[in-house]
Amino acid sequence: MLHRVLTAVLALGLAGSLAGGAQAQSPGTQDKLRPDQLKFREIYKELVETNTALSNGSCTAAAAKMGARLKAAGFPDSDIVYYSTPEHPKDGGLVAILHGSSKTAKPMLLLGHLDVVEAKRADWVRDPFVFNEENGVFYGRGTSDMKVIDATWVDVMSRMKEAKTPPKRTVKLALTCGEETLEAFNGADWLAHNKRDLIDAEFALNEGGGGRADKDGKVLTQGVQVGEKVVQQFRMETTNPGGHSSVPIRDNAIYQLAQALLKVRDYDFPLELNDVTRAFFAKAGAGRDDPMGRAMVAIAKDPNDKAAEAELNKDRGFHSMLRTTCVATLLDGGHAENALPQRAGANINCRMFPGDTMEGTKAQLDKAIADPGVKLIPLQPIRAKSTPAPMNPKVMGAFESVAAKYWPGAPVIPTMSTGASDALYLIPVGIPTYGVPGFWSGPEGSGAHGLNEHMAAKSVYAGRDYLTDVVKLLADTE
Ligand SMILES: [Zn+2]
Repeated sequence: MLHRVLTAVLALGLAGSLAGGAQAQSPGTQDKLRPDQLKFREIYKELVETNTALSNGSCTAAAAKMGARLKAAGFPDSDIVYYSTPEHPKDGGLVAILHGSSKTAKPMLLLGHLDVVEAKRADWVRDPFVFNEENGVFYGRGTSDMKVIDATWVDVMSRMKEAKTPPKRTVKLALTCGEETLEAFNGADWLAHNKRDLIDAEFALNEGGGGRADKDGKVLTQGVQVGEKVVQQFRMETTNPGGHSSVPIRDNAIYQLAQALLKVRDYDFPLELNDVTRAFFAKAGAGRDDPMGRAMVAIAKDPNDKAAEAELNKDRGFHSMLRTTCVATLLDGGHAENALPQRAGANINCRMFPGDTMEGTKAQLDKAIADPGVKLIPLQPIRAKSTPAPMNPKVMGAFESVAAKYWPGAPVIPTMSTGASDALYLIPVGIPTYGVPGFWSGPEGSGAHGLNEHMAAKSVYAGRDYLTDVVKLLADTE
């Protein structure tokens, strides 16, 4: 995903040191695998070893390899649609269709981005584009984000095809590019606007969820991502006639901007809750026995509980889940070292709570800054209001009933991401999108977007079995 949840980001440093200690080659676990697991491992390996970074990789090449595997599993050419645009020949993808037997059940969509964040060989312990298995851990760029899910989708589609008896529901697979880089050609966005019928589905399964384990690998919780915040950027700008720096006055574009920035720092947007975050705080809070847990349960009951809000605000992740946030991220100003500045500017990066709008967010910022000389200019793209996917009981029920088999006692908790994923493009065109539970990482995180990205083999194989069961169950549930 484009912006991993905060906990994963904070864990990056630890993940690096953990990975650094495991340089010695150790035998893999291949010899103990079932034949179907070996086949899956091959797909996962092939994906990780196909560089799909924006700078020097190719999603089109990865899509072609996955298409060849689907074809080998029995998909006719007519059910595998490759797409790309002439301007972005390396950012292509594919849509594959497994036809269901039911005349009434609506299709479901499996979504996965093929692209990965850049990875510099010199900074990594191992080659990021070589699939390494050491001491029960897979290393390589994309092992976590999100080629493990892509491989699972290709694998489950292939096995359902090989089974000969079609599922009730048509199952579609979309492998896309451009999720990790804001300026890149985004395949999910392109499909949503140019091939809406091809990907039409009652709901989609995507990245963004997942489990958390303790340091011994015991799975404590599984999360489902239902909805996410939306990015909206503003340029904040001040202007001034300027003049010679030898005769300064108080009225100065840089000082004026600086004062406005401090007002943004000190402004807390009002607390908001929706069905997803209310369920998250109630369920996740009930599982802990500390002041934070009690505050989580309390806020779910009463959003006006100020003491609970104050406690939750101590956690930067919860603080962000409870409201729209805006923060200064870039700064510029002045034109010469011996001149009074004529212009100063800053980028304000806002993460809007679902339902909030650009206009409403701007109005609150303008009010907090309270200086008509400070301009806030909304930057493209101007985001439509994001609506969270409804908590579809059919989908949530499947996640929960299968999880009870794999991780008894670990609750399945709905979460709202403070970051962004490709769900952003599908939800507005009417395809509710859920970030799947299944794969987990421990307290050290997975190194996603960072160094020495990795996934424990235990998590890979269990997560893949779990998701296979979930997909088959949903495909047969009308
Ligand atoms: Zn991702």
